Formats: sequence, structure tokens, C-alpha cells
Amino acid sequence: MTSLEELRKINARCIHCRACQYAYSNEPDREGADEEYTGMMLSCPGGNFYGWEGYFNSGRMWMARAFLEGDLKPSQEMLEVVEACTTCGLCAEQCTNYIDTVDIIEELRAAIIESGVEPLKRHKMIGDRVLEEDKRNPYNDPRSDRTAWHDGSVDDKNMKVAYYVGCTGAYRQQGVAKHTASILKKLGVDYTVLTEEVCCGSPILRTGQKDIFKKVMNENLEMFKDFDLLVFSCAGCFRTFKVDYPKQSGKPLPFKVAHTLDIAYDLITEGKLKIEKPYNKKVTWHDPCHTIRHIGLAIEKEILEKSDNWLLDSRKAAKAKEAWYERPREVIRAIPGMDFREMYRIKGNSFCCGAGGGVKTQFPDMANDTARERIKEAAATGAEVLLTSCPFCITNFNDAVKSLKKEEEETGKDLSAVGSKLEIVELLELMDQLLD
Ligand code: SF4
Ligand code: SF4
Repeated sequence: MTSLEELRKINARCIHCRACQYAYSNEPDREGADEEYTGMMLSCPGGNFYGWEGYFNSGRMWMARAFLEGDLKPSQEMLEVVEACTTCGLCAEQCTNYIDTVDIIEELRAAIIESGVEPLKRHKMIGDRVLEEDKRNPYNDPRSDRTAWHDGSVDDKNMKVAYYVGCTGAYRQQGVAKHTASILKKLGVDYTVLTEEVCCGSPILRTGQKDIFKKVMNENLEMFKDFDLLVFSCAGCFRTFKVDYPKQSGKPLPFKVAHTLDIAYDLITEGKLKIEKPYNKKVTWHDPCHTIRHIGLAIEKEILEKSDNWLLDSRKAAKAKEAWYERPREVIRAIPGMDFREMYRIKGNSFCCGAGGGVKTQFPDMANDTARERIKEAAATGAEVLLTSCPFCITNFNDAVKSLKKEEEETGKDLSAVGSKLEIVELLELMDQLLD
């Protein structure tokens, strides 16, 4: 039996209403808002890019059902369609039947691969690299270089706190890792980093390669088990440890986990941290799917699973979710001088950056198109800076801005209205610059 079989009853709740294809504008009546951003907007990155039903979640739910009934035979073609999804979770947020759409999509991917279909070429490549003893990361970089960026404590297992850097921070966005390390120092958190750290497994799990995922999960759990707290700067790693490790291992985590922004949030709201330096720019904020919507949905699920009165507790769950979505905004509002402008699709309705779920690796055009749509929305607010807090979002947004600039050069057109001049900034990096 595949793990998808365990989700059969949940999948059967899909009535194909297609409400999950849309996001809702936070401010449909905002003066001057482009008509494009009012009311309901088609907001599934896969469905938007490919334009037909199989690529929207509603189609995927029916593919899962047909697969379970034996009406749809697993094939490479089917896997191609099922993998063209960023696992952003927008569909899960919209579904009034509380269907765990992302779980079903991920289990459908795993079930297709378990049935003997090869993972897609580039997904297989990252799975193989993560297994190679001298790599253990999807970027093909040497394992021995994992902590080369760091000039503080390394491999000190007597420490109580470890910073789990993740592959993107360690090898591709070292600025994020360095600024996180600097912030932790400024906040008085003593920590170490481990050279033997291996990929958290997020891209492996999302692309259906469950055996490899379980191997890296078990290694990480063993390696970090004696720490009290693990801190993160990567949205994907944080989500994977917090939500997937307990689910896939069947055990609670042996340590606490926190995103660095959470530590800052707690200190700010307790009045122990004050940012004095101003940042006099027009800024908008992108909610990374993994730290914002995915954790919000997990908070909601936890409350409802324990509930014997859904009517009452669904309101409590919605409130708890909203409080989670407000946290990064509280941190942003604590920065003086900033002109903060929300985008139209925010919080649970936020539109994805386009990189997650193995999409940037396997479907770069879809990743770029999605990022450009989000950047255009950011530019429509009049912001000069697009702030976010996920190394993967930062990479994809920067690549999209580069592609806009290239298009400007080639066509001679001014594309600033759709975001070619937007500055992409990591919130942790900004905080580090503003904290003395
Ligand atoms: S997943 Fe939920 S919102 Fe989407 S089509 Fe099915 S029932 Fe409707
Ligand atoms: S998770 Fe995101 S990309 Fe995937 S089907 Fe749902 S809305 Fe579309």
C-alpha cells in the first residue's frame, strides 16, 4: 500500500468545485489598484503557467483519485504534470473542505515513483547528489566546504543551540548565512554550525523521492539530537524540520526549532529589542510559502485535529493562523522610517515565488514566469524594495529581475512598471545592517 492510499478518504472529499484555483485580494477596493489585482485572481502557479485543468490542484486531486482507482496508469508523462507544482499550498488554504492538497500531491508523486517510474531527470540528479558522501547537497559542492563561510564556532556539540544553515545558505546565498550568524551574535544567542550537516531533504521529499528523504531525515535527527534548539534562516528547511520530520518519523522532534525571525519577533514584542536606525524606503513584503502559509496551515490542522467542536474551534484556528501571518509584519513595522505597502495577495492568499517543490530545478521557465508575476505585483504597490525571508525566494526573484533587465536591453522598452528596478532584500540581512 502506498502512503497515498492512507489519504484516500481525504482525497475523496474533493468535490471539484475549483475554489482552490483562486486567491483573494487583501484590498480589492484600494484606490489606484490595477484592476488585475481586485477580487478573485487565478493564482495556482502550475495552472497559470500551463493553462489547463490537470495542472491546477482540482485536476491533480482527480488524477490522484483515478490513480487510486486504477483508472490512470502511472507514467513519465503523468509524473511531468504532477511535478509541475511548487507545493505552495495556496490550494490547501482555499479549500473549504480542509483537504490536505499538498500532502496528496507529494504522496501522489511518491506513489508514481514507487510504482517504478523514474524520477524526472533533474530531480533524480539532486537526489543522487544528496546521497554522494563527498557532497550531501543538491548543488554538487564539496561537503567539506559546508561551513567554509563561517568564522565562528564550528562542530561544537557541547553547545545548546545549533544553526541549521541548509544547502542554499551554505553554498549559494552565503550572505543570508553570514547575516543570520551576525544577528544571532547580536541577539546574544551562542550557537554552533556542523560541517557534517546534510541536506534537510525538502527538495527530495517534495519531488517524491521518499527513501532518500528518510535517510537524510534520520541522519539529521541523530546528528542534532543532543541540542536544545535548532535555529534556521531557510524557509524550506524550517518547514521540513518542523512539519515533515515529526510526520515522516512518527516521533516528536528531540529539540525545539525556531526561525531566526521568530527569535527577533519575541525580543521585539517583549520590548527587549529596539531597532533605532531608520530605513527610509518604500517597501513591500513577500510571504515565503514554507514559513508563512505552510506553518499557518499546520497550526490550523493541529487545533482542528484535537477539536470536538469544529464550529467553535475553526474560528480559534483561523485566529491562530492570522496571528502567525502577522509575525513578520510586526518585525517589519518595528523598523523606523519605512513606508510599508502590502501587496494584494498576502498571508494565506500570497502568490508563490515560483521556486519550490522542485520546480526551479526541473521547470525553470515556469519558475521564472511565476517570479515575474509576483514581482509585477510588488511593483504595482509603488515599492522600491521587495523584502522576503527565504534564500530560495531571493534567488528566484533575483533571477527574474535579471531576466527583466535583459529584456529591457534587448527590446529597449522600460520595464520598471513590472519590476525591473525592484531591489530584492532579505529581511534578516536588513535587520543585521540596522542593528548595532
Ligand atoms: S481541493 Fe477543495 S477547493 Fe479544490 S476542487 Fe477539491 S473541494 Fe474544491
Ligand atoms: S500547491 Fe500551489 S502550485 Fe501546486 S496545485 Fe496547489 S496552488 Fe497550484
